[in-house]
Amino acid sequence: MRIISTIFTLLFFAAISYGQNKNESKKEEHQDTISIYKTFRVDFKEDPVREEVFQTFKNYLYTREDQYKDNPYWNQEEQEKYGMYDFSASLIYNGGLGQLDLQFIKDHIDILVLSIDKMEEGLYSISAEYQVKGSLKKKKDYLKLLCIQRVDAIRENGKWKLQNYRPYYISDWKSYNTKHINYHYSKHYKFDKKEAKQAENFYQKLLDTYKLEPKNKSIDYYLAGNSVELGKLNGFDYFGISYTTGMTNMFDGEITSSIKIFHAHELVHFAFYGTKNVKRNFLIEEGAAYFLGSRIHNSKDYKKTLHNLINDIKNNPDYTIGNLIEQNNDKIPFNGYDYKYPFGALLCKMVYDKKGKKGLKKLMFSNTYKVENLKDVLKNLLGLKNDRQLSDNIKKTAENI
Ligand SMILES: [Zn+2]
Repeated sequence: MRIISTIFTLLFFAAISYGQNKNESKKEEHQDTISIYKTFRVDFKEDPVREEVFQTFKNYLYTREDQYKDNPYWNQEEQEKYGMYDFSASLIYNGGLGQLDLQFIKDHIDILVLSIDKMEEGLYSISAEYQVKGSLKKKKDYLKLLCIQRVDAIRENGKWKLQNYRPYYISDWKSYNTKHINYHYSKHYKFDKKEAKQAENFYQKLLDTYKLEPKNKSIDYYLAGNSVELGKLNGFDYFGISYTTGMTNMFDGEITSSIKIFHAHELVHFAFYGTKNVKRNFLIEEGAAYFLGSRIHNSKDYKKTLHNLINDIKNNPDYTIGNLIEQNNDKIPFNGYDYKYPFGALLCKMVYDKKGKKGLKKLMFSNTYKVENLKDVLKNLLGLKNDRQLSDNIKKTAENI
């Protein structure tokens, strides 16, 4: 209820400011065609620096698609530190590295810059609302509010550059480091060192047992106490699209989570994220994390979804092994859970039961991205001659768990 009323208030406010500002803040056309509006609060006369920051924000949007690396409108230090340096982009555009699609923004999104406020000397903060195109003018379209982004601007070599909101936001946060995990949390967060040690032990044991050398030497683990903090960490005042309880960015070795200190499932992903160039099937990536992580530390959910899957394999004619292994989503009706996790775990369990840790490691470091490759690797590890045998074997295992 609270969420709904907040959105109402916000939209009401946005509608008012938009209305008040209709004449003064005409669409900024001089670059070209992204629809960027601003509210009365973004008053350039009152503070001319706002205009420079506003221009930087626009320049960044126009140049990012073609110039993701060494973008002149984003803080260079962050660009060097992170592969995916613009944290909120992956949630806004539902993609990662360099996937901002300028045409998509032009065609589908209206941006309303709500405020550009001075935070301290040399630091401004931008709040920008992203909305389905045209919907700012229609009734009931608060539901089409995608997100409100928060991004900062700092001075770098005499120019304004965008920067994630995170450095300012967490500047008074605490940290606690184990050997592989650097935890970051606010002073409000009830941090439990014992749990952090359990996580470290679990991770270390994975590395030892499977003799792994993960790509990331350490993991930066940002603990959000609630969904508001999670949003801020990823550059949002509000995020309606891709709402989540956590984000894992293996590429840059970091997690933001509003769930817990010891997240076994995610740690499995990190441990097996190696330097080898392996194209892993989603079923195996998630299946292994589910089998090695969730099975032990979230066993209730694990058992429940596995039980559901087995039930569907036995009784639901659409849940054939062929459809499942090919991830034929069109043919598999949703039945209250994501089949890919328990089904992937089932495949990993079969290999583990037959060939132990070495077998599972082999499965994890084989190219299984294409279904044909996945089937070949499984047949090889399980000692089966053809697809028919593989399919029968998986079905039999499922039915006898
Ligand atoms: Zn996962």
